[in-house]
Amino acid sequence: MNKKIIVTGGCGYIGSHTVIELIKNNFQVVIFDDLSNSSQDTIGRIESITGVRPVFEQVDLKDVNHTSQVILKHKNAFGVIHFAAHKAVGESVQKPLDYYQNNLYSLLNTLKAQHENGIQNFIFSSSATVYGNPKSLPITENNQTQRPFSPYGNTKKMAEEILEDFSKAYTDFSAISLRYFNPIGAHESGEIGELPNGIPNNLMPYITQTAAGIREKLMVFGNDYDTTDGTPIRDYIHVVDLAKAHVKALFRLIENKQEQALETFNLGTGNGFSVMEVIESFERVSGIKLNYEIVGRRPGDVPQLFAATDLAHHKLGWKAELGLDEMIDSAWRWEQKYRATTTAK
Ligand code: UDP
Repeated sequence: MNKKIIVTGGCGYIGSHTVIELIKNNFQVVIFDDLSNSSQDTIGRIESITGVRPVFEQVDLKDVNHTSQVILKHKNAFGVIHFAAHKAVGESVQKPLDYYQNNLYSLLNTLKAQHENGIQNFIFSSSATVYGNPKSLPITENNQTQRPFSPYGNTKKMAEEILEDFSKAYTDFSAISLRYFNPIGAHESGEIGELPNGIPNNLMPYITQTAAGIREKLMVFGNDYDTTDGTPIRDYIHVVDLAKAHVKALFRLIENKQEQALETFNLGTGNGFSVMEVIESFERVSGIKLNYEIVGRRPGDVPQLFAATDLAHHKLGWKAELGLDEMIDSAWRWEQKYRATTTAK
């Protein structure tokens, strides 16, 4: 059995896919989750996919004392992969304090408790939102970060700054920040996938819920951008590819290959697709005509984002393998399977 890894937010969308890849690589996983935006059912689903039931601790990481107590129980862990965070961009604009409190206290309390217990390795779930509206494409890790357009995005940028200071102050601490582009898709089993609370903010779950009859129609936010077909371009990445990158990052820490105490990597495919191309791919893969309407731009959206992926390729030995159709096919299969077995809306 390999090392013990604490995965905060391990019942969530990206966390649960990462737990599966960790178990496949023989890591002993302990999930910390407050279940505020996820379900404990996920643990059974992970067990049915992998044959291993991860240890589960229900923890609210905003509670510093409880966080310390639970981390103390697992002080033999090698490191922490920190996913736990609120992530709805629009909601963060309405409730900025909730976002700063939740996302930053969780980070600070986890860092404090792990440091006190001698757990010196950390992988952070960051986002391409820290690049704001980039001046050049593809975006390399050296592109200057900008103030993100939402409090959610700003918590990611601030978290990276906290990690930078923390890793400078404590030389035995090592961290890797992974900047995700647009994760979509689901596990091939159809057992786990993206299940946003309420009305989805993101394109992919909105498309699959519309096709499933839960939403009436997709609003396409603007077709007057300076792009090939006028709709914004993003770098969509399969969540399973993304999950595998976390395992690669973990091996980099285990093998002590880091060149700096805090390293940062983009996680994307390097290919940009427009909203219309995503819709076309969905219609092709599913055979369903999607009900959509072009409406005005969504404030804060930038025209184009896609990653330079060389650094992750060279230093982590990781490259995304799955294409857009595979991402969309898996998302659609998950949506159908989920809707067939539940009455939840
Ligand atoms: N989008 C859209 N309708 C929706 C949700 C998203 O047209 O209901 C567009 C959005 O304008 C952006 C792209 O889809 O160009 C991806 O948006 P998403 O919220 O999924 O990710 P973001 O890149 O904003 O983090």
